[in-house]
Amino acid sequence: MVRNRALILGLAAAAWLASPTPAGADGARHSHGDLSSPQTTSYTTLKAARATGTAAVDGVSMTAAAQNTLYHCRFTSATTGFGYSWVSSSNVISFANKVMVEGEVAWTSQYREVTSGSNLQVGSNGLPNHYTGTYPTDSSTEAGQARYAPNPSSIGTSRIFANLPLNPTTSTTPTCVNGVVGILSTGAMLFDALDADGRDAVANEIFDLCEGHPETTTTYHYHHITNCFTDSTSGHSVQVGWALDGFGIYGPKGESGTTITNAELDECHGHTHSVTQADGQTKTIYHYHGNREFPYVVGCFRGSSVVSDRNLYALTNPTTGLWYTSTAGGRGYAIESNASQLFIGI
Ligand SMILES: [Zn+2]
Ligand SMILES: [Zn+2]
Repeated sequence: MVRNRALILGLAAAAWLASPTPAGADGARHSHGDLSSPQTTSYTTLKAARATGTAAVDGVSMTAAAQNTLYHCRFTSATTGFGYSWVSSSNVISFANKVMVEGEVAWTSQYREVTSGSNLQVGSNGLPNHYTGTYPTDSSTEAGQARYAPNPSSIGTSRIFANLPLNPTTSTTPTCVNGVVGILSTGAMLFDALDADGRDAVANEIFDLCEGHPETTTTYHYHHITNCFTDSTSGHSVQVGWALDGFGIYGPKGESGTTITNAELDECHGHTHSVTQADGQTKTIYHYHGNREFPYVVGCFRGSSVVSDRNLYALTNPTTGLWYTSTAGGRGYAIESNASQLFIGI
């Protein structure tokens, strides 16, 4: 079919391309013990302060990369938020008070990392390896009420593929973010801190117990680090994903084992020290951290080469058949099962 270019992580391709299995698609509630790390009413609040001390949801200039701001390609200032009660006058977002999307729906996540030459190829079917809430939001629940901008989208499969640099290098001039900033090893996408209208998404959008929700093309995503991953019990956080420049994204704990602050990070929300990567290698390298201060995670790209999210979405949602990316090098094969038939492409 497609010669030389039919590349998509041939290993375990049959499983990779399996259909999503919304095992709990009826939205039946399970005990909270089923969640890997449930959100609770005692969850620590997030601080949404900007360098200026004004709210993240008010018109703060983002025309240059700077600590405590998001360097965004489209929005030069954040628009006013909805003024929800869970955002205090001092810009603290209370997760104890924030409305959450109910339900515990299970999915079959397919996430892979494969090294190929000078690239790290990361792919996913876009589905998380943890429970999600019930989407579209149910109008009989609090999160489905009109005043909370109910989410009309379902969660669906995406074919996500990122051809990242295996040995990324830093640039002295950071580049702006514009939507997708990375892929987490939960299988789901990580977006930047703003919603589609330039508001602080964490303050203004309604998420489920794992801090995610689907956008209009059904891609489930987070706007900050999900709490549904297993972090280290002591010391530095584990890696939870990859940014589109090839640098790792880690949980909230710095080298001291306590939650890192923006003051300890650069304008892109990262820093450099010896760290253990997802592949087990320990090396001194730049990496991002998710924490509880705006912009929460990647605030700009520090890497000198950034995968365009246009290329990520080139693979989104084909209905059947083999798929490939014209920008990816190398060769490979894909296996897909469809009902009782198996398709193999080279
Ligand atoms: Zn969103
Ligand atoms: Zn670190």
